[in-house]
Amino acid sequence: MPEEGVAHVPRKELLTFEEIDRLVGILRKQGIKHVRLTGGEPLVRKGIDELISMLGRHNDLELSMTTNGVLLQRHLGTISENRMRLNVSLDSLDREVYARKTRRDELPSVLKSLQAALECNIPIRLNAVIANSQEQQHVIELAELAKRHRLQVRFIEKMKFDGSTSRQDVHAGMASGSEIRQWLRVAWPELQAKPRQAGATAEMLHAKSWQGSVGVINSRSRTFCSDCNRIRISATGQLRLCLYSRHDTDIRSWLRDNDVSDSEIAHRLARAVLDKPENGFVAESAAASSFVPESMISIGG
Ligand code: SF4
Repeated sequence: MPEEGVAHVPRKELLTFEEIDRLVGILRKQGIKHVRLTGGEPLVRKGIDELISMLGRHNDLELSMTTNGVLLQRHLGTISENRMRLNVSLDSLDREVYARKTRRDELPSVLKSLQAALECNIPIRLNAVIANSQEQQHVIELAELAKRHRLQVRFIEKMKFDGSTSRQDVHAGMASGSEIRQWLRVAWPELQAKPRQAGATAEMLHAKSWQGSVGVINSRSRTFCSDCNRIRISATGQLRLCLYSRHDTDIRSWLRDNDVSDSEIAHRLARAVLDKPENGFVAESAAASSFVPESMISIGG
């Protein structure tokens, strides 16, 4: 979360639940298999349970949500009923560090919600953004959770999308995915690499004696672009084909035009997706001239 917060978006600019559901229906027919609600924070949207239930009716879709976990507990029933997986952002188990990083003292309620989610058998991934070697201890403490519980803990290389940094100095001194992997392997030599599935963003490690597994996401090193099959659609209906891109396609205007049919939208989406950058470096370099600091909270992780 940027220090100055994020700009409020007028409600009429947000896609309605009906528009999201229509778009998901079109994308499903185009071969999309997995829809993830992300943010900002999806659970602050009024009536989010209704949207989850609407999406849950697309029986053949995998559903997941990225959340900070603060409001999670009251939504667990709907999440479980609609077979949704959870990606919970949790950078540290130290209450003070957590409060400093997130600007809210909510660690106890997040941990309580996680416990409740585990009891509901909801598949959980914890995502921790790791900045530098001073955070090695957070990595070890979080990985312990995966050793004791049936969940994945994934450590993410910190990227520049914090809304406050400039391109020149942004990556100096930051921990790389291979360093984080090395810390894990030194702490637990029994950890073995799991085969990576096509399109997966994490390189996972597991040991037979562990309940869960740990992984590293090389978001900054971008080692998984070659089979990236993701597209992002913002809350305001802007299609973005790569995290590092600054080029958006306005889908909301198509959805709100009575003369544009579902098949026409499908056709336009198929054409737009052909422009997906070859990798994040290509996208970043194309965006370089128009760079403006932008927070991950507005892009969606
Ligand atoms: S192509 Fe872009 S969105 Fe896909 S993995 Fe690479 S950097 Fe991420």
